[in-house]
Amino acid sequence: MTTEDYRFAQPHFLGIAGLNRPEAESLLDLADDYVEQSRRTQKNSDKLRGLTQINLFFEPSTRTQSSFEIAGKRLGMDVINMALGTSSVAKGETLIDTAVTLNAMHPDLLVVRHSASGAAELLSQKVDCAVVNAGDGQHEHPTQALLDALTIRRALGSLDGLRIAICGDITHSRVARSNVALLNLLAAEVRLCGPPTLLPSDADRWGADVFHNMDEAVVGCDVVMVLRLQSERMDQAAIPSTREYFKFYGLDRNRLAKANPGALVMHPGPMNRGVEIDSDVADDPAISLVTKQVEMGVAVRMAVLDMLATTRMEAAK
Ligand code: ASP
Repeated sequence: MTTEDYRFAQPHFLGIAGLNRPEAESLLDLADDYVEQSRRTQKNSDKLRGLTQINLFFEPSTRTQSSFEIAGKRLGMDVINMALGTSSVAKGETLIDTAVTLNAMHPDLLVVRHSASGAAELLSQKVDCAVVNAGDGQHEHPTQALLDALTIRRALGSLDGLRIAICGDITHSRVARSNVALLNLLAAEVRLCGPPTLLPSDADRWGADVFHNMDEAVVGCDVVMVLRLQSERMDQAAIPSTREYFKFYGLDRNRLAKANPGALVMHPGPMNRGVEIDSDVADDPAISLVTKQVEMGVAVRMAVLDMLATTRMEAAK
């Protein structure tokens, strides 16, 4: 599949909300091609040569930032990572001032991560280039949801009718929000599970069944996705202790045995081993998709960058 076959309808990629099923499936199909390209010895193409991508990460990130950097380079773009610790942002420049300054340098794509929900959308209104949301506060992390869907689709063939449990710190998780939206779009059945202190009160209106007991939540599931306990986003302790948390919400082999035979395990990373997931489960390649998720991340981001850039270039013709 190529972008000539399909036109992405949006100028920016800000969230799963607003995406329709054909668009989501087109992105996954294109990403499948980019998995193949990424497995070759010569991984780079000149598909987007001459274009400039700026990564603007206001929150620390290892895998997402490097994944976007590699994705842009594999498409032949010039990729710049703004070192925000040493930039004007550290001197008090606002999000908008920074974006407007960067915009004057004529980037084609701006990849943004920020601790405030809605930051990517706000930026998209102030700049001329395409904006990609690489995580905004507790709101959305749409490329994570796409990479998770691609990982599941490649492992199990289709998402249609699958039962997927998302467990852990749901309240602070943009991964959970984007995943519920995309999994619903792709006709999977979603369950959310966590302690009452880490589950938003409106979770039952997200399009998922809500559980507080993890042993019950995983029964009949094909995939169990575990989320990180995001202590940096908690105003006060939401759990009595990490030991206690692991006892009730940690994924180990005994708990996984309650899911469907052959059930697969996912985690968006970074993992707190012994808190939300046991290493024994996380590191078993027969059941854990964690490293596959990282591989799919590059392919999915190549697809998103390509779709946005190609759509813009076509529109400018
Ligand atoms: N890496 C994911 C995110 O940025 C998940 C996490 O940090 O726990 O949201």
